[in-house]
Amino acid sequence: MKAEIICVGTEILMGNIVNTNAAYIAEGLAGLGISCFYQTVVGDNDSRLLELFGEASKRADIVILSGGLGPTEDDLTKETVARAMGQNLVLDDKAWKQIQKFFEKRNLKLTDNNKKQAYVPRGAKVLYNKNGTAPGIIAESEKVTAILLPGPPGELRPMWDDQVVPYLKSLSKEAFFTEMVKICGSGESFVETDLKDLIDAQSNPTIATYAKTGEVHVRVTARAENEKEAHKLVKPVVKEIKKRFGSKIFTTDENVTLEAAVMQLLNENGLTLGTAESLTGGMLTSRLINVPGASDVIKTGFITYSNKSKRKFLGVKRSTLDKYGAVSEQCAKEMAKGCAAASKSDVSVSLTGIAGPDGGSEEKPVGLTYIGVSVLGKIKVKKYLFSGEREKIRESATAAALTLLRHCLLENLTERTFA
Ligand code: ATP
Repeated sequence: MKAEIICVGTEILMGNIVNTNAAYIAEGLAGLGISCFYQTVVGDNDSRLLELFGEASKRADIVILSGGLGPTEDDLTKETVARAMGQNLVLDDKAWKQIQKFFEKRNLKLTDNNKKQAYVPRGAKVLYNKNGTAPGIIAESEKVTAILLPGPPGELRPMWDDQVVPYLKSLSKEAFFTEMVKICGSGESFVETDLKDLIDAQSNPTIATYAKTGEVHVRVTARAENEKEAHKLVKPVVKEIKKRFGSKIFTTDENVTLEAAVMQLLNENGLTLGTAESLTGGMLTSRLINVPGASDVIKTGFITYSNKSKRKFLGVKRSTLDKYGAVSEQCAKEMAKGCAAASKSDVSVSLTGIAGPDGGSEEKPVGLTYIGVSVLGKIKVKKYLFSGEREKIRESATAAALTLLRHCLLENLTERTFA
């Protein structure tokens, strides 16, 4: 089965918004073992969408479209696709009632335009929208199946997970099972080299690696007669990957993030955390606070950007700053120590570095960063040299801090267990 993705929206074409829907759908298709050879973006233009949909229908069995289901004139995905498939639009009473309710609840005035959203191609499966007004649509014909989804990711994602994935699964006689092994502390090329023999020999299960900032994800997908059999095929491959990467693997659950894995370690061991951030300016704390239950773990986050605040809030010595500078191993160490004391936390993390584009020198280039971690008074500081633009350096530093924190926790917790 082949699928193709079309994202509709002039905003995407102009670069005003990032096409995260295509990435989400493409990852979902990969997990279902459905091939996707093309993804395209087209503006809100009837004739160009018609032409593109025609081409896609020749290449693929399923064309998935996102966006353009809104109430306004330029939202034309549904009308264009229905015309291409020779299907009439009819009012879906349930969708119309849901739209009316949606407006009533929010005390908003309903306009004539809104009724447009409740029209669907005759005979189509309607994907009711719990998070917005536009229903999604699955329209089938002998030649092609079109799946239309609303543009806002907060509407598209739950609709995809709850309604489209079960539908796509039901189309295939084969079942798929997929597991995502997430690795931190190793670059993609190292991971690929270490897995080369497995990747070269792959057919079923397939193995694919994806690089994220500071992480590499390895997706293992197998197909079989049923899910249990597919799982059996995935199991030994995941076991082998686990053997090769050991504690660098922080989860095999697609939905678990690195920060969630770190928070779980802290939580399970009853440890509290304080953060002291300079170049990342709160990025680390923000990622950690994204994890539900953060209030049980995080006590205080300091953003100590200036030398003065490093001294004032964290007790970094003036002599340390004078002798070694703010971006130094000694400063990161004192920041971690001072943060643990000031926040009365069991564990602390400190970051100090040069995010650029200015401020670098031969001795201390842009990207130079020191990260300190203190676990129950035992401090470790590591030096890094990140590359890229300011934002990228800050993101890399944040990911590295999570990885180092996790590493130090594992090291110290293991020692405690054996003590
Ligand atoms: P609505 O009913 O809200 O008008 P729609 O289905 O018509 O939804 P669009 O109008 O195309 O969708 O897009 C609405 C918003 O959804 C965009 O402004 C954008 O924020 C987001 N969006 C649309 N397409 C994408 C995409 N491919 N990736 C990420 N976000 C998107």
